[in-house]
Amino acid sequence: MTAGAKPDAADRSPTFGGPDLDPADWEAVRAQGHRMLDDMINHLQGLREEPVWREPPAALRAGFREPLPAKGADLAAVYDRFAAEILPYSSGNTHPRFMGWVQGGGTVVGMLAEMLSATMNANLGGRDHMALEVEQQLVAWTRELFGFPAGASGLFVTGTSQANFMGLLIARTRVLGPSVRKAGIREAGERLTAYASAAVHGCVANALDIAGIGSDHLRRVAVDENQRIRLDALRIAIAADRAAGLRPFAVVGSAGTVDVGAIDDLAGLAAVARDEDLHFHIDGAFGALGMLSAALAPRLAGIEQADSIGFDWHKWGQVPYDAGFLLVRDGDLHRRTFSEDAAYLRHSQKGLAAGDWWPCDYGPDLSRSFRALKTWFTIKTYGTQALGEVIARTCDLAQGLGRRVAAEPELELLAPVQLNIVCFRFRGADPDTLNEEVVARLQTSGLAAPSLTKVGGKTAIRCAIVNHRTDTSDMDAVADGVLAIGRTVRAERGD
Ligand SMILES: *Cc1c(COP(=O)(O)O)cnc(C)c1O
Repeated sequence: MTAGAKPDAADRSPTFGGPDLDPADWEAVRAQGHRMLDDMINHLQGLREEPVWREPPAALRAGFREPLPAKGADLAAVYDRFAAEILPYSSGNTHPRFMGWVQGGGTVVGMLAEMLSATMNANLGGRDHMALEVEQQLVAWTRELFGFPAGASGLFVTGTSQANFMGLLIARTRVLGPSVRKAGIREAGERLTAYASAAVHGCVANALDIAGIGSDHLRRVAVDENQRIRLDALRIAIAADRAAGLRPFAVVGSAGTVDVGAIDDLAGLAAVARDEDLHFHIDGAFGALGMLSAALAPRLAGIEQADSIGFDWHKWGQVPYDAGFLLVRDGDLHRRTFSEDAAYLRHSQKGLAAGDWWPCDYGPDLSRSFRALKTWFTIKTYGTQALGEVIARTCDLAQGLGRRVAAEPELELLAPVQLNIVCFRFRGADPDTLNEEVVARLQTSGLAAPSLTKVGGKTAIRCAIVNHRTDTSDMDAVADGVLAIGRTVRAERGD
């Protein structure tokens, strides 16, 4: 607006006519907001009746593109487009028959909490406000859950990819000292190597890449028949690298591998890390929250000895995206890996710039959203017992599907069911393309959405049960669907 000109309400959204962005008519926004909230609650309530996934039609995609709008539209009209063109074409991970990859289902509590945190519009980089107390409460609860000491630090991050990256940067500080932050890795004159099982998630190699250490310096150690890292092979790999003049600095354990849900021998890894003076990081993206279940926690024994753990509240914890978390045993080392001394971020003794915990000292992000609130609401509202029971139930459902697969002559289990993931295939000629076709048709039918992976070189249908809404009827539906579609494809191919 040029100086002196009046705001031209006709050029503005009808709901927002004034010079600022608050409504001209709050009652109209209130009514529209209530409609939107009702619709969203109805949507979650009726999920099961909807297809898991619909491919966005080409015409819809094309029609969605438009030039940058100079003039505003009515909020109701913008919302109608969301309701017609965006919401129905989601990836489906809220749906009980979504079993692809490893994705959480979210909850209505998390949805409502997101509305509250958007209202506060809090920036959790630092300063002195109650939102930081909420995040600190989550840090304390996480310490308690994993048996970490009082000096342990933690914070929310986007996801475990970021948490693993930060964990490895902390490991780098541990071995080379904070001076590496200024001088760079080359000046340190050490060739660092890290170790993980061959089944480790790809983000760990990426982390070494972006940390400047190089993904070639991740040693992918052989696994046993259950996809768990072989400790003997690990010790041999470390010794070989030392003999070659390299500097082993970190070992990454997997608490729930992405392919089959294998949990490494975490206590065994802790012992190797201690003997070899390595930083012990755990990628517990979904599996670490198995600690919430009395039935699963014993299988994670040794997790309390980790130097750092990356995991996601947004997978098994059912908190809406995104809500990754990093927990670090040595809070001081954590701080020395990230803190900056910029004048505009200086903490004061009094006033809003006080506060002794500034998350921007513990990670690469300055502005940060209030991820802690939806997590706090989730834990307070459901309690850890119910959340743990949901986790245990997803494992029971996976066992049930595993038994069904074993009992069906046309199906073949490709890996033992260890946790919440079932890898299997439909038998037939050219099984790789056959199973790719089965999964594609299952997804496009909207009936269920498993994903694909390779197990021992074989293409597998992979059902990862993460969503709290999934029940036995969904497991029957996916098995029945694979059998029906598999038979159709086999018949079409004439075998
Ligand atoms: C999902 C996953 C990751 C990556 O976590 P994001 O939250 O998607 O960044 C890493 N490791 C494992 C084992 C995972 O399942």
